[in-house]
Amino acid sequence: MKCILCAKEIHGENVKWINENSPLCEKCAALTEKKEETSFEYNHTESEKNETGAMIQTVAKIIWILGAITAIILFVVSGVASIIVLVSYLFAVFVSGLLMYGLGEIIILLGQIKDKISTKR
Ligand SMILES: [Zn+2]
Repeated sequence: MKCILCAKEIHGENVKWINENSPLCEKCAALTEKKEETSFEYNHTESEKNETGAMIQTVAKIIWILGAITAIILFVVSGVASIIVLVSYLFAVFVSGLLMYGLGEIIILLGQIKDKISTKR
């Protein structure tokens, strides 16, 4: 039979079975085991990187909440501000928060892509 990864002829004691239809030579079996160890470490770093992205997204939510509260307070305190001013201000706050939130999303995504590339090596 042949190793499913490197197609090397293998027989007897040298055959390592992943499942019924997938024989591996000793070398590929060893490599596969190492890969599993690496992917475990990579999952660990991935969750750490996602924390940075999640933190930025939390800041974005704070911007939304504080921005909305400030807008309402300003609207109530100063009788000058019109509904249009309030709505435009809320819209500006929403967009700023959205940009921040998107940045967090991009950082999470970049972290995942980077980790996927480093696992392949
Ligand atoms: Zn092999």
